[in-house]
Parts: sequence; structure tokens; C-alpha cells
Amino acid sequence: MIVQQMESCSGCSACESICPNDAIDMKENKEGFLYPSINAEKCDQCGICEDICPVLSSNWRLPRNETPLIYAAWNNDAKIRRLSSSGGVFTDLAIGTLEIGGVVFGAGFNEDAEVTHKAVGDVNSLEDLRGSKYVQSRIGDTYEQVQELLNEKKQVLFSGTPCQIAGLYAFLGRDDENLYTCDFICHGVPSPKVYQKYLAYMENKYNSKVKHVSFRDKRFGWIRPVVVVDFEEGGQKWEFSQDNPYFFGFVKNIFLRRACYVCSFKGIPRVSDITLADFWGIGEREPGLDNDKGTSLVLVNSEKGQMLWEKCRSSLFSKKCPAEYLNGNSTLFGSVPANNKRDFFFRDLDRFGFEAIIDKYMKPRNKIRQWMSLLKALMIRTINGILKNQL
Ligand SMILES: Cc1cc2nc3c(=O)[nH]c(=O)nc-3n(C[C@H](O)[C@H](O)[C@H](O)COP(=O)(O)OP(=O)(O)OC[C@H]3O[C@@H](n4cnc5c(N)ncnc54)[C@H](O)[C@@H]3O)c2cc1C
Repeated sequence: MIVQQMESCSGCSACESICPNDAIDMKENKEGFLYPSINAEKCDQCGICEDICPVLSSNWRLPRNETPLIYAAWNNDAKIRRLSSSGGVFTDLAIGTLEIGGVVFGAGFNEDAEVTHKAVGDVNSLEDLRGSKYVQSRIGDTYEQVQELLNEKKQVLFSGTPCQIAGLYAFLGRDDENLYTCDFICHGVPSPKVYQKYLAYMENKYNSKVKHVSFRDKRFGWIRPVVVVDFEEGGQKWEFSQDNPYFFGFVKNIFLRRACYVCSFKGIPRVSDITLADFWGIGEREPGLDNDKGTSLVLVNSEKGQMLWEKCRSSLFSKKCPAEYLNGNSTLFGSVPANNKRDFFFRDLDRFGFEAIIDKYMKPRNKIRQWMSLLKALMIRTINGILKNQL
């Protein structure tokens, strides 16, 4: 039986990881999201899965600052900042952990272009974790891996959505002096099935296998992100995110996980030691803190978070900010509403080809507006280039 009727199940996988009888498997539902499936023959009704579920119980919650320290920050390494979605703070936290022999967990890609959580033990492999992937990542056995590393007294930095961080603490049943966690302010996670259909559509259209997708390329700046698809046989296609059907569907909340519309992990106090996000609106409050290269919002939520932050901060630009600056980031405080076409979208997804689905549900701006937008972006880039040379 797949427990998919539970609208608020975030798919964190803590129940699968903890089950002493191996009676729970995470199985894909029709929408392409993983939900717990219980093998009645193996299940002895011990109830541990429900006791630790971070949505059903709040036992896992750790003390976190009611008034976190708030910073605007970015990485001083221009390349890392450019390749990161916001200001590139995550990479700095990760390097701080790797340099002392620790292990970093985050979302990367596997050979089948699926987004999965994985462990990274060296700086060169960090590239895979860098950048936002707008797909729900699979946790797999990473919680168990973290437990083993902590038993070996290794330092671990685990990064993920708030529900994944809650799932990790629920599974471990405790905090650990060697465990540091980093979540982000989360809009919601899209369906892996829709993402795979988008990849297949691109492969079919351009007759080449997709090698990599970058969801937040900054070639036209942080404020005008571009979706870039690289193909195995060389070649690249890019579109402003507003013109990319997949991104359009994501921000219009058409194919997010059901639980994201009633997320249990919004607001403050946060779940993790450090929360990262885009510092949307910072340029209107303090123009000097936004040069369109990406500014991270950093929330320091615990003593351990502060230790990590103080250790890494020396190689970052950072400035402390007041609490009212958080108002620009609405998804910090509340869930996004479901698109009223969501049910029709998933009904049609298996009935029609993806091109028809795009036409019906994910059609971005018309070509004239797309060209106008490109022209504007090119003009801004040229003017910025001229001003930079004159200063
Ligand atoms: C699905 C999603 C929704 C988001 N929604 C918002 C939002 O509404 N508002 C906002 O301000 N910021 C949002 N963010 C966060 C933001 O885009 C940046 O990831 C964050 O600010 C960190 O940026 P960075 O430059 O420090 O590092 P980056 O290198 O850009 O961050 C990468 C980090 O994000 C993790 N990550 C990437 N994709 C996933 C994924 N699918 N699942 C779990 N972890 C992942 C990686 O493991 C890594 O730790 C979202 C991110 C994702 C993935």
C-alpha cells in the first residue's frame, strides 16, 4: 500500500530509513513523487515510523534562535559566485567542512540525470552540488551514511530542503557536535517525473542526449536568470527562465509536491543551523548590496551555526542586516498556493505528448516579448560593461 493519501507527506524518507523490519520502500506515485509504501507482511506495527515522522510529530525539533542573525553575503571568488544560484555561500560552508577532513551532503545529478542526494569528500567534486536544481531530490541511504560518519566522529555538513533536514534529525533522534545542517528557503519541489519528461522532450527536439541542465545561469545577471541545457554531442540551448516552459510551470506552482502547498517547515525558528536563500529585494533597501551578481541571505539559527559561520566568514563579503529586510522573501513565511490547474495537468500528463502539455499549461511569453526581453538584457549588459570600464 502506498501511503499517498497523506497530503502533508514531504517524502523526506526518514520512515524508510528507520524501519527496523525493512518494511517501507519509497515508491513513485502517478505524479512522480516518492511516497512510503508499506509491506504488510514485514510490518510488525511497531509504530516507529509514525513516532519519528517530522510532519506528524515535533519530537525531532531542536532549539533554534527565535531571532536569527541575518546577513547579506557573497563569495569573494567571482567564478564560484557566478556558478552558484545566489551569492555562493554554500560552497564556502562546504569548503570549510572538507578542509578539516569532513564530508558534505547535498543534491547532485546521477548518470541518468536524476537529482539525488550524495556525499562529497573533496573540493573538486563540489561542483556537482553547486546550484539550485528545481526537482525533488532522492535522499536514498544518505541519512544512514551520515549516521555512520558521525559514529566515526567525522564532521558532516548536510544541506537540503527544510523537510530533508527535519527528516535527518528525526532519523538520528538527536543532534551531534560534529553535525552541521544547512537548509534553504524553499519555494517547493517539482515532480521528478515532469522533469524527466522535459528532458525527453528536449532530447527529442534537438536529437541529442541532455548532459546537464543549469536552472539559474547568470550570463545576464542574477535578476534575469537563464535556463541552460547542454547536450552530450556538444551544443547548448538557453532561454530566459521566464520563457522556459519547465521553469514557468515551477514558478506557477503547477507541479509541486502536494505537501509543498501546506509546508510544515515555514517561518522562524528554522530547522537547521544555517539557512541560505536569495536576498530578494536587498537592492531596493541597500543598492550597494546588489550588483546583480547574486546576494545570499544567510540566517544563523544556532550556536553551532554561528561557529561554522564565523569560521567561513573571513573569505566572504558579508554585512549584518535588520529583521525587516526579510519581508522581501515571502516563501520564508508561507507556502505557495497550488495552481488551480494542477489536477488537470497531472490528469493530462500521461494522456498527451509533452509538447501538447506545454501548449496547454506551460506556455510562457510570446516571441515578440521574448525578443524585447533579450534586447533589454543585452542593452543593460552593454551599459554595465561601459560603466565598469569608465570607473
Ligand atoms: C527547489 C528549490 C527551491 C528554492 N526556493 C527558494 C525560494 O523560494 N526563495 C529563496 O530565496 N531561495 C530559494 N532556493 C534557494 C536558492 O535558490 C539557493 O539554493 C540558496 O540561496 C543557496 O545558494 P548559494 O548561492 O549559497 O549556493 P548554491 O551552490 O546555489 O546552492 C546549492 C545548494 O542547494 C542544494 N540543492 C540544490 N538543489 C537542491 C534540491 N533539489 N534539493 C535539495 N537541495 C538542493 C545543494 O545541495 C547545495 O547545498 C530554492 C532552492 C531550491 C533547490
